Amino acid sequence: MNSKRRVVVVGGGAAGFFAAITCAEKLGEAGEVTLLEATPHLLSKVRISGGGRCNVTHACFDPAELIKKYPRGGRELLGAFHRFQPRDTIQWFAKHGVETKTEADGRMFPTSDNSESIVRALMQAAEKAGVTIQTQTGVRQVEKTDEGFKLTLSQKEERFTDRLILATGGNQSSGGLAIAESLGHTIIPPVPSLFTFHIKDSRLEGLAGLSVDHVEVSVPGTKLKTDGPLLITHWGMSGPAILKLSAWGARLLAEAKYQFTLVVHWTAPQTTESLYAELDRLRIQEARKQVSTFSPFKIPQRLWERLILAAGIATTTPWAHLSNIQLKALISQISASTFKVEGKSLFKEEFVTCGGVKCSEVDFRTMESKCCPHLYFAGEVLDIDGVTGGFNFQNAWTTGWLAGQACAE
Ligand SMILES: Cc1cc2nc3c(=O)[nH]c(=O)nc-3n(C[C@H](O)[C@H](O)[C@H](O)COP(=O)(O)OP(=O)(O)OC[C@H]3O[C@@H](n4cnc5c(N)ncnc54)[C@H](O)[C@@H]3O)c2cc1C
Repeated sequence: MNSKRRVVVVGGGAAGFFAAITCAEKLGEAGEVTLLEATPHLLSKVRISGGGRCNVTHACFDPAELIKKYPRGGRELLGAFHRFQPRDTIQWFAKHGVETKTEADGRMFPTSDNSESIVRALMQAAEKAGVTIQTQTGVRQVEKTDEGFKLTLSQKEERFTDRLILATGGNQSSGGLAIAESLGHTIIPPVPSLFTFHIKDSRLEGLAGLSVDHVEVSVPGTKLKTDGPLLITHWGMSGPAILKLSAWGARLLAEAKYQFTLVVHWTAPQTTESLYAELDRLRIQEARKQVSTFSPFKIPQRLWERLILAAGIATTTPWAHLSNIQLKALISQISASTFKVEGKSLFKEEFVTCGGVKCSEVDFRTMESKCCPHLYFAGEVLDIDGVTGGFNFQNAWTTGWLAGQACAE
């Protein structure tokens, strides 16, 4: 009889690797950790992440602040981040030979600017810790047994394990969610998060590439409201303000089939009263200047011209000739431009799934299932997702680490 503890990790992504390494390092000779990956490729998302640079975490070291970046799962992650947070991620990678750097917006990357550094560190750490890795080995089915679990693999082979970590990611077709469901878990239906908006509007035509430093975007009739930079694209709008809105509104916008009204405040957080006062002043102080050529705002010139036209004002109109009605129409274009969104595109740099295993059915101190003892979860398979900036990998590292530790105990 084998007295060593057998641990199987399903999924060779960020969460699966972190869980397997943590568990194998802690168990040492007392256990056998096997990682099963369905495809021929390991860590494939890490490799392509952050445009090939891997935005590995975010320089946010206060758990209470960090959880605000997770539209789903933040509350559950609070305690988890007190045990393993971005500072620990940085230290872990430094200990494994990868130095990281912080960009002005807080995103953290390996100093090499190459995701291969992260991939190499994880592969080497797994090898050193003695993790057995099997690729092209999908787990099809899992049955609970008296001692642990019986796994049916893609080659129809069977395998037994004492403890099981599911780190199969958010993709519904992978089968991980079906396995969790078969073991008693509730699955929150997956829908995409982090996407850009399709908008066809004459105000945006020919402006692809223009960005505005700080806008506020909202969806009327909902609580959805975010702010940040906005980028005009060939197909509509992107940029941090839009991506954040897509994350917070992932489920609501999916229910609306991605057809909804978007309101953009181009000079947020300015109030309509202060806008009125400022524009009224221009009618006197810049009386002869044309509205189109003199703007007091940080709105790019070409966009400014479009807003003027949309307000029904001829571009040659001098400020002094602006009627009160025109002034109000212009203020409305500046502070509440409405656009019709008619679809979405996935954000190629980083996209994640909203939905997955219901968080309340998991003990976040250990990542163990509350429905099925000795079953653990890590990463995007859970109903957790963050906004862009390295928060999704941090979820994978934190939950992977906790699951790996707990499995070795
Ligand atoms: C293009 C892109 C860029 C991204 N960039 C960033 C970034 O820079 N920073 C950031 O924080 N986040 C980024 N993300 C999000 C981040 O990659 C994910 O949140 C993270 O990889 C999730 O890790 P995971 O291990 O939970 O899942 P995954 O990485 O999806 O890994 C799951 C693995 O499990 C395997 N698997 C599934 N089912 C089975 C089965 N039944 N049997 C065996 N194996 C199975 C899959 O093949 C896969 O290899 C990006 C995402 C994408 C798509």
